[in-house]
Formats: sequence, structure tokens, C-alpha cells
Amino acid sequence: MLQVKKEIRLDGITIPYVLKRHPRSKRISLTLLDDGRLIVTIPRRGTHLGAERFIREKRSWIQKYINVDKLRSHDEQRDTYEKEYKTRKQEVLELVEQKVSYFNTNYRFSYNKIYVKNHKAQWGSCTEKKNLNFNYRLIHLPEDLQNYLIVHELCHLRELNHSQKFWELISLTFKNYKILRRRLKEASIYPTNTHIKYYGVVKQLTLL
Ligand SMILES: [Zn+2]
Repeated sequence: MLQVKKEIRLDGITIPYVLKRHPRSKRISLTLLDDGRLIVTIPRRGTHLGAERFIREKRSWIQKYINVDKLRSHDEQRDTYEKEYKTRKQEVLELVEQKVSYFNTNYRFSYNKIYVKNHKAQWGSCTEKKNLNFNYRLIHLPEDLQNYLIVHELCHLRELNHSQKFWELISLTFKNYKILRRRLKEASIYPTNTHIKYYGVVKQLTLL
């Protein structure tokens, strides 16, 4: 079964949903799970557009059960990040470039380009083309975690995996990398918890 994360704007609010294609289902259905996810299941020949049309048709049902205020504050927070990203992107890029070249004096890895992005769910990444990507939100992290993140992505230039060899490279800079790794995992990409919660009821609506 194919699943894709999507979102739709309804009356000025962004509603995230999961689009599922089910080969055996003959109809479109909407399900609100109690963990807050809205699932739209479409039949084998169903389309994304058809799913969106269905969501719009059933907007009053959706708006009755979802937590509109939570979603609105989520939207506002996203706008805040977007603004901050635009104003601080350059500053963060300079900081990151400085740190990369500082830590790379030990490693001497070659890399291509460094990018600063506004990721929603990722602190950083290293691509096969040897580009390094960093989430601008790292400016909200304590400095030791910023440095760990830089070294982590830097070491992926040599080892594009999390093998023993990779961790050996990291430990050349950070003996305590296990603690740093755990702390970074626990650090929220959103300073406040924005996990969207609905009313905690499982509802299902099916189009016949
Ligand atoms: Zn990694």
C-alpha cells in the first residue's frame, strides 16, 4: 500500500494528511486516528486530485473533529520559522562555513557546497555529490550540539552510513559522541511541542 504525506489548505488552515492508495478499496474514505492523523484512502485508480475534492466536500465533517486552534498555531509557528529563516539564513551559513572549515582542519575531507535550509524534520544531511545541508534551526541549539552536528555531517563525506568506521571518525573529535547523539535526538526541531492533536476520537467517513 502506497502512502504519501500531503497537506491541504482549508479555510486558511493547513491540514496535514496521509494519502493511502489501497488496491482493493472501491471507494474513498477519510479516517481520523486518535494520534491525530487524517488518513485519506483512495482506490487503485483514485487520484490525488480526487482525494482533495473529497476532502473539500467533507470539510465540515473534518472541521468538526479536528483541533482547528492547534492547526492554526502550527501554521503561525511555521510562518515564524519562515520569516526567521529568511532573515538569518546568511548569518547561519557563515557560522556553518566557519565551523566546517574549523573541524575539517583535522579531517581534510573534500566537499562541494554547503547549504542552509529550513527543513521540518531534519538537522542536516550529506549527499553523494558531497554537498552538506544544514537546518538553519541549529542556531537554537547549544553550541556543543551545533558542533556535533557539523562533525556528524562532515564525517559522512567519508562514510555515507552509520557504520563503526563512521563513529570512529566522529570520536576523533568527540569522545562523548554517544551522549551528544542522544541529546540531539531529544532536541526538538520545534522549540515548543507542536505535535498536532485532535480530539482523540477515531472517526471514519466513507464515500459510497
Ligand atoms: Zn548521520
